[in-house]
Amino acid sequence: MPLRDLIGVRIGFAVVDPEGRSVVMVVEDEESYQDALNIGLSVEGFIVMAASTITQARELMSSTKPDLVLLDVMLPDGSGIDYCREIYDTSRIPVIMVSARTSEVDIVLGLEIGAADYVTKPYRLRELVARMRAVLRRPLAANEDEIITFGDLRIDFVRRTVTRRGIDIELSRKEFDLLALFASRLGQVVTREVCLDTLWWGLELSDTRTLDTHVKRLRQKIEDDPSAPRHLITIRGVGFRLDP
Ligand code: CA
Repeated sequence: MPLRDLIGVRIGFAVVDPEGRSVVMVVEDEESYQDALNIGLSVEGFIVMAASTITQARELMSSTKPDLVLLDVMLPDGSGIDYCREIYDTSRIPVIMVSARTSEVDIVLGLEIGAADYVTKPYRLRELVARMRAVLRRPLAANEDEIITFGDLRIDFVRRTVTRRGIDIELSRKEFDLLALFASRLGQVVTREVCLDTLWWGLELSDTRTLDTHVKRLRQKIEDDPSAPRHLITIRGVGFRLDP
């Protein structure tokens, strides 16, 4: 069985990564690119969901929502442009379009489908990864205040940094997004459903261990006593509330 199939199958069941690594779905029919990306992106710390057709991509997407999609324009069973539209119809997952010719990029740009970025083959892995990271760093919403300060915490949404008593706190991407979500509704209850919809598109409500794990880790990083939290409060059966 080719490497990409093995990876695809395994990821089909791993709903999200407990380490907070970003999941990227690579939709690419050229085997040389697919193999190179599977290995290269894994080494760079991404989890790769591999699809070589739009049909496969749809199947993968129905069980796991990636953080980012790398989408080839010309695919055996259709146009990546149409599939990009389909993704944006139902989610906010950013898409980076990959094309074989500059003329295709012109078409993609002309159609204004809202792709997060574009790369043309051949590209360097280093450049691609830099662009992927840049897309992933974009804030969840443009209308968030740039900086929120409360208690001994300071959250900078633009730089995506958190400091506590002036000392930087290391947060994974998901941990930051979750804290940013709570902070954007300071003092208000954020339901588990909203957390899952915002950060883990499509994750079943019944499978919320990932959310609890992230909340627990956040508490360890922002609370004096994580077992008796003063800021990040659980509202039993409903969700969470971040108190100033
Ligand atoms: Ca292709």
